[in-house]
Amino acid sequence: MTMTKGTRLEVDLSALAHNYFYLKSKIPKDSLFMSVVKANAYGHGSVRIAQKLQELGTDYFATAYVHEAVELRDHEIIKPILVLHPQQHELEECIKRCIEPVIYSVPMLEAFSAFAKAEDQQNYPIHLEFNTGLNRIGMDPEELDQVLKFLKSHPEVKVKGVQSHLAASEDLEERSFTENQISLFESLAKALENALGYPIIKHESNTSGILNYKNAHFNMVRSGIGLYGFGNDPVHDQHLKPLASLKSNISQIRSIGAGATVSYNRQFKAEGPMTYAVVALGHGDGVNRIYGHGRLQVFVQGKPAPTLGIICMDMFMIDITGIQAQVGEEVVIFDTKQHTARQMAENAGTISYELLTGIQKRVPRVYLP
Ligand SMILES: *Cc1c(COP(=O)(O)O)cnc(C)c1O
Repeated sequence: MTMTKGTRLEVDLSALAHNYFYLKSKIPKDSLFMSVVKANAYGHGSVRIAQKLQELGTDYFATAYVHEAVELRDHEIIKPILVLHPQQHELEECIKRCIEPVIYSVPMLEAFSAFAKAEDQQNYPIHLEFNTGLNRIGMDPEELDQVLKFLKSHPEVKVKGVQSHLAASEDLEERSFTENQISLFESLAKALENALGYPIIKHESNTSGILNYKNAHFNMVRSGIGLYGFGNDPVHDQHLKPLASLKSNISQIRSIGAGATVSYNRQFKAEGPMTYAVVALGHGDGVNRIYGHGRLQVFVQGKPAPTLGIICMDMFMIDITGIQAQVGEEVVIFDTKQHTARQMAENAGTISYELLTGIQKRVPRVYLP
């Protein structure tokens, strides 16, 4: 019987090292490795994760927003940081904290250059993003000439890299679409590089791009989910190690009889005598309401216990009929081995990314070396 010190997300930093070296072994020796630590490092805690990755030797970091990058700068992260989705109001802050923005529109290029000029910058490093089929952010390939013309008269900025993002790198049925994205990016990046007259960093692959498309590695890759142990495919998952285990404990055990209902709106009704336990975790911690009504099984003494009825903000109830449990005893929601975050998410129709990034600040992160 394992007693606990409360709800926590355990994060295994040795698994992070394993994943980092595994993913690096898949790319050419001279390609750079960018570690994506946006959204609190996919819920794992961006400061500790970035510090570990810096120690391991990552070449670059990426966040989505500037304030996420600033937090890293405030905690001894000195490697280059690229911001993938900077917002207009954050652009000036980039320059102050030596953060590289992805520029994804012509007006944004103009706005950023104006800030760089006002701050007396020369050759401030930027990355350009072109849309090649995801239809999210990015400039159209047709805008390349306009961009080049602008750059000629604006020495305050300098293109350090060019990127695009794959729409379906994890879905091999979309191979021909992806190959098309890769060749479009390749010719665009070459044209840009030729026109600039100096080498730039070309990057297009996320984790699944690294694992499925060798021809999309170019001279840098951007990996997020793979570092955290998931490869979007059982074949790749075999080689990666999840970092995170979500654990909580039982706060109360109660017995009820036939006809009694459990939780808000009375959506679970007992058919006979049963015992339930209350778990000290809820949707306020990131276990969303989608996991109610038995769509999640947690583990008590290694035995499965399904959720009963609606998930509350601070707690949910599980069926422990037949399990001799005690108050304070450990409840495992997901672990790094048999019952991973990926499995839990997929059982409820979502993905590991969403479950992990949704683990709230209220859940303490506990790091294992
Ligand atoms: C989030 C993100 C990544 C990382 O993707 P994974 O699938 O987690 O490896 C890479 N590039 C961009 C532009 C992203 O937004």
